[in-house]
Amino acid sequence: MDLKKLKEDLLNGKRRALAKAITLIESKNEKHKKYAKELLEGILPYTGNSIRIGISGVPGVGKSTFIEAFGLYLIEKGHKVAVLAVDPSSQITGGSVLGDKTRMEELSRRQEAFIRPSPSGDSLGGVARRSRESIFLCEAAGYDVIIIETVGVGQSEISVASMVDMFLLMQLPNAGDELQGIKRGIMEVADAIIINKADSDNLKVAELAKKQLENALSILKKQDKDWQTPVILVSALEKRGIDVVFSTIEKYVRIKKLNGTFFEKRKRQAVDWMWSVVMEGLKALLDNNQKVASVAKDMEKAVVNQVTTPSLAAEYILNRFKETLCEGGVP
Ligand code: GDP
Repeated sequence: MDLKKLKEDLLNGKRRALAKAITLIESKNEKHKKYAKELLEGILPYTGNSIRIGISGVPGVGKSTFIEAFGLYLIEKGHKVAVLAVDPSSQITGGSVLGDKTRMEELSRRQEAFIRPSPSGDSLGGVARRSRESIFLCEAAGYDVIIIETVGVGQSEISVASMVDMFLLMQLPNAGDELQGIKRGIMEVADAIIINKADSDNLKVAELAKKQLENALSILKKQDKDWQTPVILVSALEKRGIDVVFSTIEKYVRIKKLNGTFFEKRKRQAVDWMWSVVMEGLKALLDNNQKVASVAKDMEKAVVNQVTTPSLAAEYILNRFKETLCEGGVP
């Protein structure tokens, strides 16, 4: 593999090189992993120059319709747009809710756009790591708006929120009881809420939903002192409200850069990422440790039968683990 050429082509913004580089970081082949590390280190000085936006919403809410319209709008404004998917469903079903090739057809034909579905057959942790590294690769290739799309299931939203500058939650125009379904934790991490399909018959109920959401948001204690989460009405289909979404993003970035928290957040995310990789590695060491395995089952039994307390059993397991580390007996 000609890594030097790949890096050069990547930095020159060649889409094929970018696709190839992402395939490299997704590979489980040991040699590829080594190349991937080298490539990532080499391009690090060329990263960071983008706005990273997360978009989450249930299947059918209109994410791909919106991202296509939004992406085309951004291209008209002179931006280069990359769309990456974080889709834990691909791990369960082998297929992917977000990986459908027919999605965003018009956008994917544009030279200024790059669209990449989520790698399948991987854990959320694995998908998240690759997405983070893919963000770097896209930035090195000159994409200045990076959209990370995810379905609104499980932990994927929180995971995406932890890798972007701004997190957008996309909602259907539901009001009243249906609104109760929104998880509180998600409202807390959302930097803006988009109500999509605010068109034709839905318009009235969308306006009602907006008011109710604004009320709910105003009583929610947010950590963020200088940003009140706005609710934006959009029709992705009729391409209305797209400009409002972008001006909201611009305003958010402007405020965050002015008060210094924009890059502070990125630094914190990078350090958190480092520790999450350490934790994953530790867990893998623990899971594969023969000595731990030999006592773990007994401890589980002892806890179930109330022979010992969970914390005492945990302490015992951890001590066995520490012993093997001290012996240099890492598996
Ligand atoms: P995703 O699963 O979240 O990516 O949703 P899609 O973008 O595939 O949209 C699901 C369906 O909703 C499609 O039939 C779209 O045509 C439709 N849709 C998307 N956006 C809008 C909108 O703004 N208004 C209306 N009326 N329908 C929309």
